[in-house]
Amino acid sequence: MVVDDLKPQVLIIDDEKGLRLGTKRLLESEGFIADVAENGTEGINLARSKPFDLAIIDLKMPDLDGIEVLKEIRKIDPNIVCFIATAYASYETAIESTKLGAYSYIPKPFTPEELLLQLKKGYEKRLLILEAEKLKKEREERLLEIAYEKTRLKTILNSITEGALVVNKTGELVLYNSSALKYLDLHEIFIGDVILEILPPEITEMIKKFIDSNEYIPNSYSTQIELKPNKELIVEATCSPVPHADGSLAGVVTVIRNITEAKKVEDIKSQFVSMVAHELKTPVAAVIGFIKIILDDTFGVKPEQQKDFLNRSYVRLNGLLAMVNDLLDISRMELRKTQREIKELDIAQVLKSTLDFLELELKKKGITANLSIGCSDCHLMADQNEINRLFTNLISNAIKYNKDNGSIDLEIKRSGNYLRIRVSDTGIGLKAEEKAKLFQEFFRVKNDKTRGISGTGLGLSIVKRIVDSYAGKIEVESEFNVGTTFLIFLPIKENGQSSSTQK
Ligand code: ADP
Repeated sequence: MVVDDLKPQVLIIDDEKGLRLGTKRLLESEGFIADVAENGTEGINLARSKPFDLAIIDLKMPDLDGIEVLKEIRKIDPNIVCFIATAYASYETAIESTKLGAYSYIPKPFTPEELLLQLKKGYEKRLLILEAEKLKKEREERLLEIAYEKTRLKTILNSITEGALVVNKTGELVLYNSSALKYLDLHEIFIGDVILEILPPEITEMIKKFIDSNEYIPNSYSTQIELKPNKELIVEATCSPVPHADGSLAGVVTVIRNITEAKKVEDIKSQFVSMVAHELKTPVAAVIGFIKIILDDTFGVKPEQQKDFLNRSYVRLNGLLAMVNDLLDISRMELRKTQREIKELDIAQVLKSTLDFLELELKKKGITANLSIGCSDCHLMADQNEINRLFTNLISNAIKYNKDNGSIDLEIKRSGNYLRIRVSDTGIGLKAEEKAKLFQEFFRVKNDKTRGISGTGLGLSIVKRIVDSYAGKIEVESEFNVGTTFLIFLPIKENGQSSSTQK
């Protein structure tokens, strides 16, 4: 007989020994694997112990009725193809056994050919059932996989910060994520909604370009849109076509990227560049003016005037050089280019040497400086050059913007986890609106008192950058015409080390 590569497993349950063993021999000679049981209970136990493809169950057995055995076996495996065999065939039992899931009914006595023909058909049925089961299982697994894929896609889509929104070529919403809803301030929209009219007109216009052309052209359109006034939310929306598998247009995907912060930085940068250009232009123009006058014979400039112009040019160029150097310092700090040498510094010592360094300037204005050290340990971990720069800028300002014969008070003490350094002067002071702009690049107070004082307007912005890079803070108190106090807080870690945000 023709059977599958795998040998069919048959269970024969019959109380007639001769028939049982004869059938077993016959089937084994035909390529089956046959197991036998001499009563219903033994048959059920065998069915539990190993898998069978086919079962031949005698209807009349001393312990259990064949119909009962059939029921039990089908409970164990509903896909076993079962035959009921009996010499007492009746129409009713035939109906009942097929109702209970028997595949067929074999009347006894049967010839080997009759039996083999039935078993062959039954085995084909069994293979069909198994194949159908396999397909069903695969389909279920695939469905599960699709469902899982969908949830995963949704989770991924919702976790990206870019907004994504897909419409089909009739403008109906096909897919979106939560970021898109947030940026576009859309509530209550559903898949299938026609949304072109409720999108920002710039996006609708780009989507329509694709929909109107009704063919797939692999181009993208991109535009920047201010979605909230006062530059509160600026996005870059990019629309690209989505193709069908056959290459025709399926829809349009819009990706929305929040560029508010990048725009702000860009604005600050271009403002800074224009400020720098403006600041550099003034001294250069002045020097060119002086040289032009000297060179132009028609002005008939006398030698002592020439010297005056050259002196003034020298001062201007010195100022320009100082500004370029300050700008270079700022740029190095921004680019994190300078290599820091972090070591333990005695801040009291730093203040003392800064005063020594500025002694000449102090003397010129007759200013007295007092240093009060209110901590037993005034050390912290920092870069010597940066800390020198920080206090040189502050103390030289306290001299420059002081009154003649004024004074400067310096004080160091611990304040919680910080070293607090106070720099107070008895100088010209600041008005509230001036104080507010103090740390902006190029900001300089312009009044009668500051007229003759040279500077770049970058010193305090450098101070701020240094303090920030050590995760410190600055406070300013000032009274116009009375004096100004800067309070610098530099953090000290518990083990006595300061922390730094720049490596
Ligand atoms: P500058 O090179 O002009 O001194 P800074 O950035 O150091 O630049 O300071 C910016 C401006 O802040 C100064 O031009 C001055 O008008 C004001 N300023 C700074 N320090 C003091 C101070 N101690 N007292 C009064 N005004 C000050």
